Amino acid sequence: MRRLEADVVIIGGGATGAGVFRDCCLRGMRSILVERNDIASGTTGRNHGLLHSGARYVVTDSHSAAECIRENRTLKHIAGHCIEKTDGLFISLPEDGLSYQQDFINGCARAGIPTEILTPQQALQLEPSVNPALIGAVRIPDGTIDPFRITSANILDAREHGGTLLSDTKAVGLIIRMGHVQGIQCRDQRTGELFEIRARQVINATGAWCHEVMEYADLSVDMYHSRGALLIMGHRLNGMVINRCRKPGDADILVPGDTVSVIGTTSTHVGRHELETLEVTDEEVRVLLEEGSKLAPEMMNARVLRAYCGVRPLVSLSSDGSDRTISRGLVAIDHAESDALPGLITITGGKLMTYRLMAEVATDMAVRHLGVSEKCSTASKPLPGALLSDQDKSKGKNVQVGGYSLADSSLPKTVAGSAVYRHGERAKDFVKEDSKWCNAVVCECEVVTRGEILYAVDQLNARSLSDLRRRTRVGMGPCQGEMCACRTAGLLAESRSDQIDALDTLQDFIEERWKGVRPVLWGDGLREAEFSYWVQEGLLGLGSLRQQATCAANAVDTTADHTTADHTAQDEERTA
Ligand SMILES: Cc1cc2nc3c(=O)[nH]c(=O)nc-3n(C[C@H](O)[C@H](O)[C@H](O)COP(=O)(O)OP(=O)(O)OC[C@H]3O[C@@H](n4cnc5c(N)ncnc54)[C@H](O)[C@@H]3O)c2cc1C
Repeated sequence: MRRLEADVVIIGGGATGAGVFRDCCLRGMRSILVERNDIASGTTGRNHGLLHSGARYVVTDSHSAAECIRENRTLKHIAGHCIEKTDGLFISLPEDGLSYQQDFINGCARAGIPTEILTPQQALQLEPSVNPALIGAVRIPDGTIDPFRITSANILDAREHGGTLLSDTKAVGLIIRMGHVQGIQCRDQRTGELFEIRARQVINATGAWCHEVMEYADLSVDMYHSRGALLIMGHRLNGMVINRCRKPGDADILVPGDTVSVIGTTSTHVGRHELETLEVTDEEVRVLLEEGSKLAPEMMNARVLRAYCGVRPLVSLSSDGSDRTISRGLVAIDHAESDALPGLITITGGKLMTYRLMAEVATDMAVRHLGVSEKCSTASKPLPGALLSDQDKSKGKNVQVGGYSLADSSLPKTVAGSAVYRHGERAKDFVKEDSKWCNAVVCECEVVTRGEILYAVDQLNARSLSDLRRRTRVGMGPCQGEMCACRTAGLLAESRSDQIDALDTLQDFIEERWKGVRPVLWGDGLREAEFSYWVQEGLLGLGSLRQQATCAANAVDTTADHTTADHTAQDEERTA
């Protein structure tokens, strides 16, 4: 059996695992991260993208609130290209009254969250999409965070500091010798190969699945799997985050991000067996639209692009049975101390926006066991792509990309601007003033170029169309990959050395997209889906291409057989 060696092996490539991976690499430890699918394909890729100020938790969970505001400031400093500093409003509607507002403001003051009380007119001026019936509003420093980008930036930095990423690799067991965890057994999900990674510390960062890894060592944890559904609107309705100023409930946050707005969430307890079969129900869509349009009435007329849901990895340390009261705080378990099992650490709970802090806590535990003295530097070192100032990014003025300033560039501002918006100063690696080939647009909705796709394949470990979607936003726009998916699949197959099948990756991508579109098929969305079907099936015949490709392959095989047989016969004749 193949065996790899490291100081630390991290299981799980969500934001938390990616953060641990970066922290370990920056502290000089030889680190390997294993992820059973792609990075950010778990809960990290299925959330609201809210960079909490902490205000949402000030009344129910002041500890989480204080954690949030600290990390809010840190992430704005180290991850500028993954964050929009939109600020947020907590609005009170006539049915809410104003009594909650006072508790809310007091709670914010206790947690150190700055507030500004606004009149309804001031709120409407700042955010014209907000419900004009509001009776009060408070401004707080909420923002938005792109979960895919921040995970990818952490992984990129870790790899640039010597780390090894193994995607499509599932941890299937722990290696335990003499009461000490000494590594993991893995399975390559593509080839089925089993192999081992020997390491002095194993860090379990598998979020909602962390109980499974713990069970490999006969340990257990009381997870509370809380499922939440969200809807993506077809365009960006709001500039600021809009929250309801009341006890947290369904569909009370509207988050803008990139080109869209996201309304969420619901909250339902699900069993562990339901983690792999998550679907948004009609009832959830109804609640999200009905309640969401109370925040911004324009929502009722907007197109819904897709629906999705995820599961919060909450740990029920103590609870009254309702998931909204379980702490969103992080849970770090050093199994050496809690279960007399050295070599294993579990980090779970928390939130996307506290991923860095969670990583720091878990890595601090690991270095204590490994005798490493290097301190954590992730709170001060900017991530790759985060070196540009906000002004540089928004004005495109002094941004030097590929050796020229964006201001003097002859490229359309959308091309260079989108590249910088998504990848910060790293856009210089693929935006080339003099290369029409690189700057050709592949996805018109999100302005993704051929150069960006190849950069994601070469530098960001994208191996399929769905991976490319997570790295670049290709196929995420209003047409949901109608034409760009085909172009990108061809490009991907050409550019990878490991024989990617363009049809396979295209089919997977379309099926994955379909899951999100299906619950919201009406009006314009239905028309677009029908049009996509005509293009992909009627014009390109995608459904039958696989069959044709198989027939063609068989025909080649048969010809090859005949050719070999003919040669053999001729050779025999000649010999005779
Ligand atoms: C509906 C919803 C809305 C949310 N909104 C927000 C928000 O607005 N802001 C915020 O800050 N937080 C939000 N959260 C919380 C946040 O999304 C999560 O706390 C966070 O993403 C968890 O990240 P993680 O890395 O710990 O877990 P995950 O992202 O789930 O990562 C765990 C990874 O482990 C992998 N894995 C599992 N088992 C194995 C194995 N055996 N071998 C290898 N790999 C394995 C999985 O494939 C997965 O990729 C929301 C959550 C939900 C559900």
